[in-house]
Amino acid sequence: ADTDEARRTSSRPIDVIEGPLMNGMNVVGDLFGAGKMFLPQVVKSARVMKKSVACLLPYLESEKDSCAVHSAGKVLMATVKGDVHDIGKNIVGVVLQCNGYEVIDLGVMVPADRILETARSENCDIVGLSGLITPSLDEMVNVAREMERQGFKIPLLIGGATTSRVHTAVKIAPGYSGSVVYVTDASRAVGVTGHLLGDETRESYAVEVSEEYADLRRQREQGKTVRAYSPLAQARANRLRTDWAAYTPPTPGFLGVRVFDDYPLEELTERIDWTPFFMAWELAGKYPRILEDPMVGGEARRLFDDAQAMLRRIVAEKWLTARAVIGFFPANSIGVDDIEVYDVEQNGEVRAVLHHLRQQMQRRTDKPNYSLADFVAPADSGVKDHIGAFAVTAGIGIDEHVRRFEADHDDYQAILLKALADRLAEALAERMHERVRTEFWGYVPEEQLGIEELIAERYRGIRPAPGYPACPDHTEKATLWGLLGPDEAIGLEITEHFAMLPTAAVSGWYFSHPESRYFGTGKIQKDQVTDYAHRKGMTVEEAERWLAPVLAYDT
Ligand code: SAH
Repeated sequence: ADTDEARRTSSRPIDVIEGPLMNGMNVVGDLFGAGKMFLPQVVKSARVMKKSVACLLPYLESEKDSCAVHSAGKVLMATVKGDVHDIGKNIVGVVLQCNGYEVIDLGVMVPADRILETARSENCDIVGLSGLITPSLDEMVNVAREMERQGFKIPLLIGGATTSRVHTAVKIAPGYSGSVVYVTDASRAVGVTGHLLGDETRESYAVEVSEEYADLRRQREQGKTVRAYSPLAQARANRLRTDWAAYTPPTPGFLGVRVFDDYPLEELTERIDWTPFFMAWELAGKYPRILEDPMVGGEARRLFDDAQAMLRRIVAEKWLTARAVIGFFPANSIGVDDIEVYDVEQNGEVRAVLHHLRQQMQRRTDKPNYSLADFVAPADSGVKDHIGAFAVTAGIGIDEHVRRFEADHDDYQAILLKALADRLAEALAERMHERVRTEFWGYVPEEQLGIEELIAERYRGIRPAPGYPACPDHTEKATLWGLLGPDEAIGLEITEHFAMLPTAAVSGWYFSHPESRYFGTGKIQKDQVTDYAHRKGMTVEEAERWLAPVLAYDT
C-alpha cells in the first residue's frame, strides 16, 4: 500500500472524504454553477455528503487527519445585528460547502465585533453578510467600515433581500478598501467566491468589480439631477381628495385587542401562496404553472411533493403553533400625514400617533401624492373613523424541529421547514385579513373570493406592513407593538432593529377605505425628513438613519 495508486484506491475514511465524496460534490457544484442543476437538488446532495462525512469522522485516524480534509477556503457567514432572517444565508452556506469551502456560520443577530473577532481568530478567507430588513443595510455599512478600521484585507460578500448592487456600490464599497461584492443569489455565490479566492483570478476580478462599482456610482451621480421632486407642502396639497362628508366609515365589530391562540393550521394550508416558496428555492415561475414548466417543472414538482409531505406532518404532529393578535381603534388623520389613535373608551384621549410619509415625486398627471394617512378621515372632517392592526406568527415551536434536522445534517428539511413556516405566516395574515373584512370589521360580509383572487388581493382594504414601500420606516413597529402587545399576547418579539422573532411573522395596519391601495413612497426630500423627525421626536440624523433607503439625497 505504499504506491500512490494504492493509496488513492484505499478505503481509509480520509480518502473516501477527499476522494469520491469531494469529487462528487465538486460535480454537483459545477453543474449548479453551469445552471444544469437546481438548488433543491444541490441541497439534497449536500445532505448526502454531510451525513457521509459525519459517519466517517469518528473513524479518522487522528485529529490531524480531520483537519487535513482539503478546503477551498474558509468563509464566515452571518446575518447582521438586529436581523433574524437566515434562509438565504443558509442556502448560500450549503452551496459553498458543496464546492469545497469550509463555512463558519455565526447565525443571526451577529454584532460587527463578533463577526470580525471570529474572522480573525479563525483566519477566514472571506466574510459574507446577509440581511432581510432595511436597517441591515446600514449595519452592513458599519461592518465594512469596521473592517477598514481594523485593517482587514479579505473580501466582503453582501447578500439578502433588501441588498442590491447599487447599494453595495454606493454605500458599502466606499467604506472598505478590500473587495466588496454583491451576490444576487446562491448560484452566483460560488462563482464570485471562486474568483475572489482563486490565485489567478483574485486581482483581476477585484479590479473588475471595483471599476464596475465606480461606474455605478458615477451613473447614479448623473442620474440624480434628472428626477424631480415636489416640496412637501406641494405634495401635501396634492394628497388624495375624497369626499369625507359623503362617506360613512364602517364600524368594527369590537374595539381593542383580540388574541387568537393556536390558530388551526388546516385553515391556512389551502391559502398558501406557493409562488414565493419556489422563489426561496430559486425556481422562477408562477404557481401552479411552474409545476408544468418545461425547464424547472420536474424539480418544482419534486420540491412541491416534499413540501406537501412535510406540511401534512406539521399539521398532524403539531410541529408549529400559529397565533394572531388583531385590534381595532378609533382613529383620525391629523396634520395631513399622521394618524391619531384614540383610547378605546372613546373619551377622545390620544393613545398613539402613527407617523406616515408622503410621496414627493413630481406628478405630471392628476395622480395624487399618496400617504397612508389619506385613507383615514381627517379629524377636522368630524367623521369618526377607525384603523386596525395585526401581528401574526406561525413560527412558535419551530426551533426544536430546525435543531433536530440540523443535528441530523439535514439542511434540506431544515430550510424546507423554515420556508413553509414563512408561507403559513403569510397565509395566516391573509386569512385574518379575510375574516377582518367579512367578520370582525365586517365591511364586506358577503365577500366570496377564490384563493387566486385572495392572493391577487382583489378585495377592499389593505394591510400595509411597516418596513414595506408604503410605510418604509421600521420604527413604526414600536407603535404597533405598543397598541397590540404581541410579545405578551402571542410570543412575537421585535429586535433592536425591528425584525420580528420568530421570523415566520407578519405585522401591519388595516385600512378599510375603498380607495386605500398599496403604493411606494419613493424617495423623499430633506424638507420631509426634517418635518418627520420633528413629528417623531427624533433628531434629523436619527431619522435619516432609519430612512436611509428612501432618502433622495446623500447624507
Ligand atoms: N401572498 C404574498 C403576500 C406577500 S406581499 C405572500 O404570501 O408572500 C404582500 C404583503 O406585503 C401585503 O399583504 C402587505 O402586508 C405588504 N405590502 C405589499 N406591498 C406593500 C406596500 N407597498 N406597502 C406596504 N406594505 C406592502
